[in-house]
Amino acid sequence: SIPLGFFGGVGGASRSGVLVKGSNYLEALNNVETVVFDKTGTLTKGVFKVTEIKTIGEVDQSTLLEYAAFAESYSNHPIAISILKAYEKEINRDLIESYEEISGHGIKVEVKGKEILAGNTKLMQKEQITFNESEEVGTIVHIAVNRSYLGYIVISDEVKEDSVRAIKLLKNLGIKKIVMLTGDRKSVGEKVAKQLDLDEVYADLLPHEKVERLELLDNEKTAKGKLVFVGDGINDAPVLARADIGIAMGGLGSDAAIEAADVVIMTDEPSKIYTGIKIAKRTKKIVW
Ligand code: ADP
Ligand code: MG
Repeated sequence: SIPLGFFGGVGGASRSGVLVKGSNYLEALNNVETVVFDKTGTLTKGVFKVTEIKTIGEVDQSTLLEYAAFAESYSNHPIAISILKAYEKEINRDLIESYEEISGHGIKVEVKGKEILAGNTKLMQKEQITFNESEEVGTIVHIAVNRSYLGYIVISDEVKEDSVRAIKLLKNLGIKKIVMLTGDRKSVGEKVAKQLDLDEVYADLLPHEKVERLELLDNEKTAKGKLVFVGDGINDAPVLARADIGIAMGGLGSDAAIEAADVVIMTDEPSKIYTGIKIAKRTKKIVW
């Protein structure tokens, strides 16, 4: 029967590490036209390495890194993890008097009466800190203390090997459009898009702008075609919820992301999207 066939498909998918939250989503996976990926932690490893510490003015590199580490000490963003790893030392969190993580921007903290800002160009602009934009390719964390710009830390991430495979497989399946959205800089986004041969890339996006872009992409496809969004869950819940099929990846994503997703992938392999679509197609053959 139809329901049994689909249940079989859902079970088969879960044995392959793809948890589909309902047979309607398995059916929808048959008509995927657009696949939209988040960048950090989804197509890239999300394991950043500090590659440069550039100071401007009266501060040494280890002090700049220390400011950044204090700022990032409560964040679970991949950027924060890389900075804390580079710092190596323990942070005395008792010294932190206030803490604010500004989604898509960075962090603002007060430590022993000093205000530390650590984040991107948007954060510096929002806080009216003046500085000269760097030409460097890489993800950049700018640091300002007590309203003075002190320099920046360059961190870099790598494309997952499985992402290369995943994009090729999806193209072979005839997916019409493969897109990447990122809150990271344009230069970083374009580099990744080129490496993976993606159709479109949109960078410098705030979380709500990712939702707006998704809506535009949704309007561009045919009425029958489905739009998939794939993210690792950090700041992704609204976009996951808005897509026809929201896919959370990594299994260990936030509860909010797993809740908002229609499909959960247990590993961090983007090629599982292909596996899910293949199982959906096979299930359809059995059912009809
Ligand atoms: P992505 O789209 O790459 O997953 P996010 O929306 O998580 O990115 O973040 C977008 C940008 O906001 C990052 O590239 C970074 O510049 C800045 N940012 C976010 N969180 C932090 C943080 N904890 N520390 C510094 N910068 C951050
Ligand atoms: Mg993210």
